Amino acid sequence: MNPFFTGGEVISVSFPTRQMTAEQQRQSLRGNNVTFAKATVHHELIPGHHLQAFQSSRYQSHRSQFMTPFWLEGWAVYWEFLLYEDGFPQSPEERLGFLVWRAHRYARIIFSLRFHLGQMSPDQCVDFLVDNVGFDRINAEAEVRRSVGPSYPPLYQAAYMVGAMQLLTLKDRYVATGKPAKTFHDEVMQQSSLPISLLEAIVLDQTIQQDNPPLWRFDESQFSQ
Ligand SMILES: [Zn+2]
Repeated sequence: MNPFFTGGEVISVSFPTRQMTAEQQRQSLRGNNVTFAKATVHHELIPGHHLQAFQSSRYQSHRSQFMTPFWLEGWAVYWEFLLYEDGFPQSPEERLGFLVWRAHRYARIIFSLRFHLGQMSPDQCVDFLVDNVGFDRINAEAEVRRSVGPSYPPLYQAAYMVGAMQLLTLKDRYVATGKPAKTFHDEVMQQSSLPISLLEAIVLDQTIQQDNPPLWRFDESQFSQ
């Protein structure tokens, strides 16, 4: 059920179990090698989920009822992009550790939505992860079991990468107004969990109309590059 590190306020460590065969244990260790694991700590803890929970309990705490994975997971993956660009992973192995999760987040959009639309079976989702992300089969099976299970709403897995793309776009729009990225990060953390379109309305000082709620739009130019 939990092939890789997960977390929130604390981090959970995945490891081989006695019930696994020796080959399955090797696959489990390969999927949690040091540089893969290193690239999950900032996602789960700081500046990711631990910081989000810390801030959300102090600012706009009533908004926890609007909790959306596009804000929750999007923010953690947004930081994966920033840290990668800033040289946080230094060796080729560490950069690969970052990029394997990035590939996984793209794959999640495709296989989870196709599963929920009835276009892919769980076995096809596993094959898709093995073929396109390079996961070992036992880890891909556990990941699909977790991803499409009842504990996550249907859009959850797509929200990691889509939410990150929204926040990267929103930061560009914010910085284009002349404000620094630093205050963007403070503002996002002090607004707590909101749909990114509402977050945009707040940080860009847009007027919200009751009959015309904010809708998220990507810039066309982002996709023509
Ligand atoms: Zn996460």
